[in-house]
Amino acid sequence: MSKNTGVVEDLRYIRHGAGLTHPETPERLVAIYEMLDNPDMAWKWTGIDARHATRGELERVHRPSFVDFIAQTAGKSMTILDPDTVATAETYDTARLAAGGFMNAIDSVMSGETDNAFALVRPPGHHAQAATAAGFCIFNNIAVGARHALARWGLERILIADWDLHHGNGTQEAFYEESRVLYFSTHQSPGYPGTGGPEEMGKGPGLGYTLNVPLRPGADDALYVRVFRELLCPVARSFRPELILVSAGFDPYIGDPLGEMKVTPEGFACLTRVLLDLADEWCGGRLAMVLEGGYNVQGLTKCVRAVLLEMIGETRVTEETLIRMVGETGGQADRVIDRARERIEPFWPVF
Ligand SMILES: [Zn+2]
Repeated sequence: MSKNTGVVEDLRYIRHGAGLTHPETPERLVAIYEMLDNPDMAWKWTGIDARHATRGELERVHRPSFVDFIAQTAGKSMTILDPDTVATAETYDTARLAAGGFMNAIDSVMSGETDNAFALVRPPGHHAQAATAAGFCIFNNIAVGARHALARWGLERILIADWDLHHGNGTQEAFYEESRVLYFSTHQSPGYPGTGGPEEMGKGPGLGYTLNVPLRPGADDALYVRVFRELLCPVARSFRPELILVSAGFDPYIGDPLGEMKVTPEGFACLTRVLLDLADEWCGGRLAMVLEGGYNVQGLTKCVRAVLLEMIGETRVTEETLIRMVGETGGQADRVIDRARERIEPFWPVF
């Protein structure tokens, strides 16, 4: 059955960082938008407008002084925010549009206007903390989006799955003491930003609601699929999410210049299917993705296409495919899964 999939696409997202030499280049979205406009894709999805996040919406996650700090970069040709992160004249505007575009994607899914949605925006967000821009991120789009969904739609249980190569330290921080948002991250370890150890599991009422599964370089489709199916799925079924949000970074792609993982476009389609099935099972299919990293422009475009086709229902990864894929993993994968289960079991006795 095909689904009505919403896509946030807006040429204003190209403006941030224009003219810089940086891996998080406007070309990433130029290539993705060309793919979307291709005759074989163009009619398959529904456009969702971008909008600016309001000050109040940003301040659910970020300190007012930090929003002021980013605002004063507007119109200046270059402001260095951290060794990896630069604001250009239009960055403040673009970053507000990124968070706002994702909130519109969430509203579209929550209202039933679309079944699921993908916000193809930049700058990315998951490293941005309450008072810090970092790792190419300005405002934390997914955290602002989750806060919005809690406030506007009165939700009580949101699952955030973060498959970006890097740990979403900003997102973890935003919900570390929160039981309404379950944050699940896979990431390459060791790697930037250095957080995301398995022992980081939340605090106070949020204890057990942050789950980190660091993976050694070289993790492939099969290992990722196993981690999602054998660790995330049982926990998610117990948590019973009302909405699933995804920090969709494509830097675990096999040809990414920043990573050493081996995930293929088909692998990302498999992860998408696992999450879509969870969403169908628990929350009427409601799932919204937001673009994070992914720096091999050609590979990124292939991965986004594979994920979108799965969301639309144009392709459908079957249970047989998932089982066959997982059957190929060896003893090292068993140890990764077993160790993570031991950590998670006291909080989620579901295995
Ligand atoms: Zn990343």
